[in-house]
Amino acid sequence: MSDLISQIAVNQIATKNELLEIIVNEQYDNELFAAADKVRQSIYGKEVYMRGLIEFTNYCKNDCFYCGIRHSNKNAERYRLTPKQIEQCAENGYGLGFRTFVLQGGEDPFYTDDVLCEIVKKLKAKYPDCAVTLSLGERSYDSFKALKDAGADRYLLRHETANKFHYEKLHPANMSFDNRIRCLYDLKSLVFQVGAGFMVGSPFQTTENLVDDLLFLKELDPHMVGIGPFIPHKDTPFANYIPFENNNEPADIANVDGNTNRSLRLTLVMVALTRLFLPNALIPATTALGTINETGRELGIRAGANVVMPNLSPLDTRNKYLLYDGKICTGDEAAECVQCMKRRMKSIGYNLVEKRGDYICG
Ligand code: SAH
Repeated sequence: MSDLISQIAVNQIATKNELLEIIVNEQYDNELFAAADKVRQSIYGKEVYMRGLIEFTNYCKNDCFYCGIRHSNKNAERYRLTPKQIEQCAENGYGLGFRTFVLQGGEDPFYTDDVLCEIVKKLKAKYPDCAVTLSLGERSYDSFKALKDAGADRYLLRHETANKFHYEKLHPANMSFDNRIRCLYDLKSLVFQVGAGFMVGSPFQTTENLVDDLLFLKELDPHMVGIGPFIPHKDTPFANYIPFENNNEPADIANVDGNTNRSLRLTLVMVALTRLFLPNALIPATTALGTINETGRELGIRAGANVVMPNLSPLDTRNKYLLYDGKICTGDEAAECVQCMKRRMKSIGYNLVEKRGDYICG
């Protein structure tokens, strides 16, 4: 193995220049992925945890420039699930072997602390052997505390980018980088298992930004890290943005296919580096990764990821929670998704397991 990769695997940290070197040079890829896989296997073996994703509302008060359910998208057909419907999704999921439910949505003021706490309490009472993960965007410390007290175990809040200037290019002026980061530290102080993360290839992102993301993750030390490729959504200001378009690539690479390949490769590289930096992290092979490449999730697992997040949302709302174009699995029953995922994991020598899949402390 190259000195550089083995040194990072041992020390779990690298300098900015070392990271840049790895990110821009494809010749490190194979040994990087193998090193990440080895680290993951030393902690989590060949088990892949599954999380049942319940996309319970696509109403959102925010206007993130990249996101298909942004407030200004008048073409988005809005829906919200009732507490009863959310429970039914969980019931279906429990029967399929899920032991973690992830409630994700836009920032929808309809779901007050009281409403959410009731939902969390019900789920935890009915399924004491399951983890409840929330992914509801930014809230106050008091709100996070109420949700924690109600029994929520984990909270996902991608930081999106660790660079404030970059953050401001992806979000309108009324959204604040500092508040997002404040939320992550509040969640940690409340002893949630916390998930951060970012998109790869988002508009205006530089290679240095990706390095900053890794160094930020090292500092935050979250339990979970979601990393997925940016994929344009047709009704957003970034509809026509092609990732890496302005990257001075040779002409034969700088076409749409070439850019998809770049997104794929770079996402895998970031997953692998994250695994080396945070050996114990729970890292999903994201649906976005599976969207840009037929076997993207399998490649993600082989590059150090150890979680997948099949969808438990009702079929009639599934095709309305569209953060980006081309999202996969919008027409499949949850049961089909689980079977498909089992097969996919098996095909690469991993096992999809019916466990809570908590963070293993280092
Ligand atoms: N409202 C919640 C959930 C957001 S959706 C929150 O603010 O955390 C979950 C994630 O989808 C986002 O954090 C973002 O990283 C990702 N996402 C949104 N639009 C995307 C796009 N166009 N391409 C890829 N990922 C996207």
